[in-house]
Amino acid sequence: MKKKEIETLFKKTPKKGFYTLEKDGYLFVLESLGLFKYGLLSVIEEKGPLNEFIDRLVIHNQYVERSYIINNEFGVVLNRIDINALELLLDEIIAFFKDNHIENICLHCHQRKDLAFFYNDVNIEISCEECLQEVEYKEHSSHLLRGILGALIGCIIPTFLFIISRHIGYLIAPVGILYGLLAYYGYKKLGYYMDKKGICASFLTAVVTMFLGQSVRYVYDVVDAFQANWKIKVSFSEALGVMPGLINGSVLAVGLVYLIYILVFLLVTYVIVIVIEKRKGYHFNVIEKL
Ligand SMILES: [Zn+2]
Repeated sequence: MKKKEIETLFKKTPKKGFYTLEKDGYLFVLESLGLFKYGLLSVIEEKGPLNEFIDRLVIHNQYVERSYIINNEFGVVLNRIDINALELLLDEIIAFFKDNHIENICLHCHQRKDLAFFYNDVNIEISCEECLQEVEYKEHSSHLLRGILGALIGCIIPTFLFIISRHIGYLIAPVGILYGLLAYYGYKKLGYYMDKKGICASFLTAVVTMFLGQSVRYVYDVVDAFQANWKIKVSFSEALGVMPGLINGSVLAVGLVYLIYILVFLLVTYVIVIVIEKRKGYHFNVIEKL
């Protein structure tokens, strides 16, 4: 099914791959599972010949791969279904619900109440408003190692720019901003979510790669110094070898100034990104009625 086809029947939601439908007083959520599969979900009363109906769906409908009812959550896994077949299936399900006086209930209190779709950044839930005020959403944990890998990959570009910009001081600001953006979103991309742990880890990743970048810059400074003072060409590895003897307080101090500038831009970028993401509701514990 193409997105446009789905949207002729379902409403799209802020969550990618999730759609909602209110039909004949029944609420459904459609979730794209990838590989042409979809999950059709609802929360209903368990009564009547529901189990037989669920078994029958799998046997008689070629698109239904699996159907279940667990703790009042009704779900149907669909494979390669088209929009017309989906509409027919919905009619069949709704007709069965009506015939057996099965109603939607709240996911949390399991009562017939005024229900609505709620978006909590992790899921789309069918719930009553009272319950949502009491339910505490646990922050989804990000995947630390994957996240750090993402931040590291993100930091390659600013580190490279930092190294090659030794003679161009004004690149420091964009380098700092890039460190902030790429470390944050690199972590979020591979670590699935962003949380407090992710903010600290990605920030530290940026700082560590920044120090590595500065170390490489020191070595190139040695190469330059040999060239300028004694007209001697030394390679990067030779310069690296003599480095320890040449490093002193004043050399370190020059590098430190750059690091502090970048750090300031990195910090400011982080604060701005975190504020924007929070406003957009991309951090957790945000519940929105759809
Ligand atoms: Zn409730």
